[in-house]
This record gives sequence, structure tokens and C-alpha cells, in this order.
Amino acid sequence: MFKSLRWKLQFFYSTLLATVIICSGSVFYYQVWRSTFAEVDRRLEASALYLDVTLRSFPPPIQQGLEAPPMLPPPLRPDGTAPPPPRPRRSKEQFLEELRLPQDSNFPGEVNPDDQPYFLVMTSNDMLLKKEFVPLGYSEAQSLAEQFYPQPTLTMLENKLREVRMIGPSGSKIIVGKSLRRETIQLRNIAIQFTAIGLAFLVLGVGISFAIAYRMVRPITQMSVTAELLSEKDMSKRLDLNHVDSELAGLAEVLNRLFSRLEASFSRQRQFTADASHELRTPLTVIRSVSELALSQVRSPTEYQETIEVSLKAAERMTNLVNGLLALARLDSSNADFNLQLISFNDVVSESIGLLGAMASERKVGLIADLHSVQIFGNSESLSRMIDNLITNAIIYNKPGGKVFITIRIHDDKAVLEIKDTGVGIPEEHLPFLFERFYRVDKARSRLSGGSGLGLAICKGVIEKHNGTITVQSIFGEGTTFRIQLPVFKNLD
Ligand code: ATP
Ligand code: MG
Repeated sequence: MFKSLRWKLQFFYSTLLATVIICSGSVFYYQVWRSTFAEVDRRLEASALYLDVTLRSFPPPIQQGLEAPPMLPPPLRPDGTAPPPPRPRRSKEQFLEELRLPQDSNFPGEVNPDDQPYFLVMTSNDMLLKKEFVPLGYSEAQSLAEQFYPQPTLTMLENKLREVRMIGPSGSKIIVGKSLRRETIQLRNIAIQFTAIGLAFLVLGVGISFAIAYRMVRPITQMSVTAELLSEKDMSKRLDLNHVDSELAGLAEVLNRLFSRLEASFSRQRQFTADASHELRTPLTVIRSVSELALSQVRSPTEYQETIEVSLKAAERMTNLVNGLLALARLDSSNADFNLQLISFNDVVSESIGLLGAMASERKVGLIADLHSVQIFGNSESLSRMIDNLITNAIIYNKPGGKVFITIRIHDDKAVLEIKDTGVGIPEEHLPFLFERFYRVDKARSRLSGGSGLGLAICKGVIEKHNGTITVQSIFGEGTTFRIQLPVFKNLD
């Protein structure tokens, strides 16, 4: 699965999306969580300071849990009359009645009394002055055992109680607290909502990324389907370039070109096999029919001799063909067994001319050579075979009394071998196919001369192995010129 491009893309998108959702959700939740508790802390601190201010407005004895001292009677007026009696002093309970949390300390939407802020005020010697809304099971002793500071100090108790403690006037101790139950539930609900929304986004994102990944790899899948449909029997399928993204268009074009080359190669191979079997079948049929005919009744020695001669000719033709096929197979294989050596090209050519002189004079064709000395890196055996074929062609496809001009010259650091004849020539429409295997212009004439149509294909293969070129020019009825160019090693002149 992890070898699949589509699943890799899918996995990458989903991981990225999940990371983004988790990170942004966590940051957002943290902000909500922080602001919620910061608001609670701010209100608790404000309430503690409010109680401190209220307590400071009381007479010090009240702050210490005592009754306020009785008022002394005011002194007599100068005229000896008694002033009106002072207003009676308020009792401790009346003072403590004023000690309550500020109006806005109740949080908006607060319904549960358990969630209401509570407070306790103690004297310096831990005597309770007042307490309100203290939750059930609250341990005063435990709270008092803690350290108190002049500034409001925040602490977190068990049972989700958040408290602010501070030292008030006359060493009194002020505690304001609140249960965080409601906030915790709210935050939990928010977390659940976040998770649900995040999951919904993740599912949606994974769906979209699935569609994107599918869309992205679809052309590749289509390419492999098309490639799969290609078989040796039907190589006509091609990739549709109109529906391929620009990034893949180059690859699709390369593949289409490859398919075309494969198609051409398969068809050449088929053609080659068909031609080879056809060429082999003809001499075999000849041998079989003449042998059957000879054996059908008793023959004279001359007739048997004729039969053997015909069979021998057919066998020679087959030998030529098999040798040609073998040479082509060698040329098609790797360069490893094609041994190139420093050779004298003009020697190889003059050797061939010497060997074919008899054949030329037999056919009344004159061989005229003008060979410039030149050394090349080459395989003399295969070069001889190539030159033999070209000169043989020039002799065979010539007219009686015709000429063959064989020249070697040097042009642009290349050894140029020209074999020019004054023979029958080749019609122009045949020239593009001349170097194909088994291609013959005049099949009847070629067969008569024992030709298999492999000679020029072998020539081309040999020249390519030598990094050279071979071209042909011909005027039908006037003659043909084959021109070979090979890289020169050293010019001896
Ligand atoms: P082989 O395999 O024995 O050489 P071949 O001579 O028929 O057989 P190629 O040498 O490949 O085959 O030549 C292919 C064809 O090209 C010949 O059949 C002939 O029709 C034509 N051809 C080649 N050389 C000449 C030439 N110099 N003048 C005219 N036609 C030529
Ligand atoms: Mg030939």
C-alpha cells in the first residue's frame, strides 16, 4: 500500500490536515481555557479587595471581632446646657451586615448556588467574623493553615475550588473562593464540540484529498491501462494527450513515441520472420520436388546429375541466406564481439577488387579503381563482406560492357568510398527501402543471381558499427552510386 503513489498522497494530505486541525484546535481551546480562568481569577481578586476595603471602613475593634467601645457623652456647651445625645453606635452585627461580596461578583448566568462565589473573614486569631455561601464540606481549618500574604494570592483546592486569600486590616484574613465546576463543564462541552467539528473537517478533508489524489493519479493509471492493453497483436493504442496534465504530457509523448517504435519493431520482426521462412522455403521446395521427381522412376546418370546440380544450387542459396541471417544476428547483438582494429582501408578494398576481377570479366564489366591510402579503425572481415556485396551488386546489376568505378578519397577527415556503376539503376521510389532486410528491386533478377536481399542491410549494419554512413544515389537506366563515409585514423600520404 505504501508503494502506491495515490495512498502516499492521501496519507500526506490527511496527516497534514489532521496536524493543522489538532494544532489550531489546541491553540484555540487553550485561549478559551485561559480566558475563562483569567476572568474567574480577576473577579475573585476584585471581590477580595472589595471585602478588604469594606473591612477597613469598620472601627479596629470590629476588625478584631470585638464590639465597638461605647460613645463618651459629649462635653457641656459653654452656656452649661447639655448637647443633644450622640447617635448610638452600631453593634458588631450591624457592621458585619455590610460585609458582603460586590453585586457584580455573581457571574452572569449563574444559577446553581453551589457555583456562587463564597467568602470567609477571620480575625487575626482565626475567629470567624463572617462567612457566606461556603460550600458543604469546606474545611476552614485547612484553608487557615495556609500562608496568607498582604496581596491577594490565588490557590487551587481539591473539589475544583479556586480561592483568593489575603491579609486584611488588623491582621484579619480574607478568603474568597468559587467552585469551577460550571467552567469545567463548559470547557468540556467546548472541547467535545471542537473535537466533533475537527473530526467533521478531517473526514471532509480526507474525502476531498481522496478525490484530489484520485484525480492526480488518474492519468498515470490510464497510462498504465493503455500500456497494459498493448500487446504484440495490437500495438495501435496510444495515450490521449488532450486529457493529460502538462507535467505528464512529456512522459505521455515519450511513451507514445516508444509505443510507435515498439510497433514498428514488432512489425519489422514479424515481417523479417515471414520473409526468412519464405526465402528458406523456396530452395527447400526446389530440392524436394526435384528429388521426388528423380525418384519417381529410374533415371539416366545425366538426369541424376542434373537433379544433384539443382539441389546443390538450392543448398548454396540456403547457405548464403543462413550466412546472411547469421551476419545480421551478430550485427544486432552488442558491440562486445565486434573487434575494431587499426587497418588499411585501401588494402581491404583492393583485396575485394582482386577477388571479384574474374567475375567482372566473365560478365564483361570493367573495374576501375583509384584508391587513396587511408587507415581506419575497423573490422576487416565485416568490411570485406560489405565491399564484396557492393561490388558484386555493381557487377550483377550492370549492363554488358559496363563499368564500375571504385574510388577512395579523404574529405573532411572522413574516408569516402564510392562505388559507382553504369548499370541498370534503381527507380527512385525504391531508394528509401533499399537497406531494409529482404528488400529487392527486381526480385526475379536478384533470385536468378542467388541474391537474398540481405546484402545492403548487412552493409548498413556494418557501417553503423563503424560510426559511418552509407548513402545511395541512382538514375534509373543510367547507374547507381553507393557512398560510404568512415572516420579516418591516419592519412599516410
Ligand atoms: P544478397 O543478399 O545476396 O546481396 P541482393 O543483392 O539481392 O542479395 P542487396 O545487396 O541487399 O540484395 O540488394 C538489394 C536490391 O537492391 C537488389 O536486389 C537489387 O535489386 C538492388 N540493387 C543493389 N545494388 C544495385 C546496383 N548497384 N544497381 C542496381 N540495383 C541494385
Ligand atoms: Mg547484393
